[in-house]
Amino acid sequence: MRFDGDAGITHLPMPRSDRQYLLYLHIPFCIVLCPFCSFHRVEFREDRATRYFQALRREIEKAGRSGFCFSELYVGGGTPTVLPDELIATVRMVRDQHPVARVSVETNPDDLENDSLPRMRDAGVNRLSVGVQSFDDKLLKEMQRYDKYGSSERIRTRLKSAKGLFDTLNVDMIFNFPHQTRDMLKTDLQILTEELGVDQISFYPLMSAKTTRKAMRKDIGEVTFDRERTFYELIAGHMQDAGYMRSSAWCFSRVPSMIDEYITEHEEYLGLGSGAFSYLDGSLYASTFSINHYLSLIDSGESGIVRRSGLSRREQMRYYLLMQLFSGSLDKAVAEQRFGGGFQRTVWAELVMLQSIGAVRNTGVQLVLTESGYYLWVMMMREFFTGVNNLRDQMRHNIARETTIPG
Ligand code: SF4
Repeated sequence: MRFDGDAGITHLPMPRSDRQYLLYLHIPFCIVLCPFCSFHRVEFREDRATRYFQALRREIEKAGRSGFCFSELYVGGGTPTVLPDELIATVRMVRDQHPVARVSVETNPDDLENDSLPRMRDAGVNRLSVGVQSFDDKLLKEMQRYDKYGSSERIRTRLKSAKGLFDTLNVDMIFNFPHQTRDMLKTDLQILTEELGVDQISFYPLMSAKTTRKAMRKDIGEVTFDRERTFYELIAGHMQDAGYMRSSAWCFSRVPSMIDEYITEHEEYLGLGSGAFSYLDGSLYASTFSINHYLSLIDSGESGIVRRSGLSRREQMRYYLLMQLFSGSLDKAVAEQRFGGGFQRTVWAELVMLQSIGAVRNTGVQLVLTESGYYLWVMMMREFFTGVNNLRDQMRHNIARETTIPG
């Protein structure tokens, strides 16, 4: 995953008229910048964020005029709920212009007290994903989240108040913190499944990017992978005993629902806003990570997309294999049809290797992950997202600190 040379482009890719797409919107503003976080995020300032939302709506309209039709909407960040009224206006606009069936929004625990949650639901948001990371006060302090988002007890109270408001309440957790013990993890699991009984839980292994490694070492300790597998097995065993199904290798749901890794369900998607990625017709696209550059591009009638990298047919197949098996299975006939034949012939070496190490079982119709395969996929997706984080670093390179609005 890299963007070679200066393959600059500033226009939206063309959609296929027979297809409906997932629209991803990136809202890069946060009140606190957590040390472990490699997402594209900047300090919140109301004037900049308001102007950003206005620009984003113009970019969405431009995509609609170019022929894109959206069936699902995912709003991520950063913290999409930093300006609830702007978010609601944006969701309403997308739903007014497209046949959007499902809307998912990420948020942080302090916004759960916000009286705008019912208005978000009325605007069509049916899945809320809350970044909690841990219920252990010591770990929350190391992550510098305790002062801003409150103690474990306060977060639990807020989650209880949000229960039942949306079709799906998802909680994002992290495991394998350097100072996390098995007992801490067991307590987190009990809180989630017994005390809170949330609909869906995404348990990410701790990840880093080159740029966050130093800050992480100082604040939360040195990241190693020695205990990652046993922690994951503890999580998977507990979640299945508690009656949750696997929606992906690290997401567990009580009922089928949208998941944070929309890229597994939607092979192709359009990402708009500063720092968003898109994957369309075998190419990966990135929008500018400079908020100032984004605002000036939209002002001059362009889109925020500035980079494109084409994947070879074999790379597209390997990407398809990775994403499909992340959800647990791959239908062989669908894969052959998707690529017009030649799928199993092209990735035969990968398939033989996966079966010979016992990670994948061939049912004849499907390739299915085994229990050890699930952990292999956690490692592979951890490395995939680390690659995405390094790509983000590459995109951020040379952007000076921006605190003012251009023009
Ligand atoms: S973890 Fe969430 S709140 Fe913290 S900086 Fe990253 S996006 Fe913002």
